[in-house]
Amino acid sequence: MNELPSFFSVLGVIFVIIIIILGILLLIATFLIFRMVRKKKIVFPKATLFLLDVLYYPLKRLFVYSNIDKSVVDKVEIEIRNGILKNEYFSSKIEDRIVVFPYCLRSIECKAQVNPELGVNCIKCGKCKIGNFKEMCDENSIKVFIAPGGSFVKRVLKRHPHSSVLLIACHAELNEMMRILSTKGMPQYGVLLKKTGCIETDVDMEIVKEILLGVN
Ligand code: SF4
Repeated sequence: MNELPSFFSVLGVIFVIIIIILGILLLIATFLIFRMVRKKKIVFPKATLFLLDVLYYPLKRLFVYSNIDKSVVDKVEIEIRNGILKNEYFSSKIEDRIVVFPYCLRSIECKAQVNPELGVNCIKCGKCKIGNFKEMCDENSIKVFIAPGGSFVKRVLKRHPHSSVLLIACHAELNEMMRILSTKGMPQYGVLLKKTGCIETDVDMEIVKEILLGVN
């Protein structure tokens, strides 16, 4: 009869210890994020990225409760991942690179057909920035995809497992896609949109071009 309360007391102590450890880790992660935002450098990038990946959802919740812009978690993860993977990406052959643009970057007047295998089949109508960029990529045998969703990106990557991938998206989508690619060990680089939203978003194509054609 006496064993039952002691079992629950042990369980309670374990629970409290877990909460304390989680709280300490969240504080460390928050400190690292702000240190990186202020000083623009990170001391142990891989360990920090691991910590941020593990605490991703609790961290975002904490930032929302604290009235802090939660997108900073994604932005910092993207920056760290770019820093870790850039050598691998820039060492890859340019013709092995593929570019994945988000669906929302198109003009709302886009007449391109959507194919489940190829995504949006851009006809280079010139109503958005993708058309001219695709023209340049076609001349350099670089594949361009306009992704109607995350599952499409996974399908593309399955079909091109030896590619290096340049991803363009908003912070949450980009971070998620980069995490997926990291598990597959694919060289990658991520560029954030400069204007987000669901329609007619924008990106600095000069930056995209520079990174696409950049070498080590
Ligand atoms: S350039 Fe391509 S993606 Fe952009 S609106 Fe025209 S067809 Fe659509």
